[in-house]
Amino acid sequence: MTWNLADLVEAVNGVLAGELLGDEPVVFTSVSTDTRTLKSGALYIAIKGEHFDGHAFIGEAVRQGAVAVLISEPMETVVPAVLVDDTRIAFGQFAAWHRQQMPLKGLVGVTGSNGKTTTKALLAHILSKQTQVLSTQGNFNNDYGLPRTLLELSTSDDYAVIEMGANHVREIAYLTQLAKPDVAVITLAAGAHLEGFGSLEGVIETKGEILDGVCEGGKAVLNTDSPGFDYWVEKSQQLGLSILTFGQARFANVQVTNFKQTENQIRFTLDLNWQAVRQSKDVTMPVLGIHNAMNAAAATAACLALGLSWSDIYPGLVDFDGVAGRLQQSKLPNGILIDDSYNANPSSVKAAIDALVQLPGSSAVCLGSMAELGTESEALHQEVAAFAKERGVNHLLLFGEATQCMQSVFGEGAKWFDSHDALAQEVMDLIQQNKIQNLLVKGSRSAKMEQVSQKVLAAL
Ligand code: ATP
Ligand code: MG
Repeated sequence: MTWNLADLVEAVNGVLAGELLGDEPVVFTSVSTDTRTLKSGALYIAIKGEHFDGHAFIGEAVRQGAVAVLISEPMETVVPAVLVDDTRIAFGQFAAWHRQQMPLKGLVGVTGSNGKTTTKALLAHILSKQTQVLSTQGNFNNDYGLPRTLLELSTSDDYAVIEMGANHVREIAYLTQLAKPDVAVITLAAGAHLEGFGSLEGVIETKGEILDGVCEGGKAVLNTDSPGFDYWVEKSQQLGLSILTFGQARFANVQVTNFKQTENQIRFTLDLNWQAVRQSKDVTMPVLGIHNAMNAAAATAACLALGLSWSDIYPGLVDFDGVAGRLQQSKLPNGILIDDSYNANPSSVKAAIDALVQLPGSSAVCLGSMAELGTESEALHQEVAAFAKERGVNHLLLFGEATQCMQSVFGEGAKWFDSHDALAQEVMDLIQQNKIQNLLVKGSRSAKMEQVSQKVLAAL
């Protein structure tokens, strides 16, 4: 990609300052906010963070080959500089401008409490069977990750699939105005990140903010089974968006029925009922959990919204094998280890437990603390303990302060550990004595429960 500095000045409403070398137009070929990864020929954006001020690294950026800088502090620079009030905002504005220049057939924005990355990955997987697709890498779904992703769009991309995450009210509103989706998907609203939102209503409204940025004539893809569904439908109607629904409700445009999980795959039927498409389709996917059938329904609905047909969608659905750390399966001597250690909140833990208990044999759940639950933390941990018991989990092995309160609720079979090592050792003993066959490892990112999976898999 090559950008002209004059376009940047206009897009961010900036003032050109600094040294202009000759009359030649200044062009840059990449955009960087970090001198450690900056490539020669880049525009360097000096961002003021919590701990560092990017303006302190301008000299370093120029040494690394930056040909221009975007700044909010007036200063002398040896390369052309564009001065703005707020470089973070300008970064977003430039990314939004760039997105508008790209001749995309469609940009899909994905938000929700759970399943964003999985739905995004599945959608990108389906679309890339047909054509070139850009999608958010990893989990870069915030006010830096999203502009960064948009700036990677090139003229040869037909579609983009963009994840939008939020810890606070108004964050999705900001991101969606930059990305301007043609299709907005809300996977679901659940009690994730309650600390920043106050209540489930706060979560519902924040996820619904994605609709505010949808392009004229765009579409909303909504989950019939989620709290907030009615609110999102009403909001979409007010905004004049077409609506496609997915879920287990009979009226859903993409309805999930006949769900079954066998040892290492899921089977279900998708009943499609959208415009001229009236079909019932059986699907088998090499992943676990009913929530992945829901993610498949969400992705299918988004593809229909983009104008794809079932024959375009099917090949990518059935060979999608999931995303690392999200219900990933490994073999144990007499069963399966499900590593879902990437992150956790009450609804995703329950979904993962449902996937676990459908495997034949007895089971253990290794759970690290669920973070960011605010004042509800104890009650929600206890609710999960009761759920695990009710579903027939045999052992509940706990790590992290917040999980202490789960022991008494679960009762016999619950045990708390003060280290990953001690917990992993207990798991290995249980497996070796053949007291458990299947294992689920899960916890919030901060609990780093993948260390348990790694230890167990390395030892067996
Ligand atoms: P983050 O907020 O961390 O970006 P995310 O919304 O991108 O999360 P994923 O990374 O796709 O979500 O999945 C995280 C976990 O949520 C998975 O490990 C799985 O247990 C659970 N999960 C995935 N999809 C769903 C769903 N549709 N409903 C409920 N839980 C889900
Ligand atoms: Mg994610």
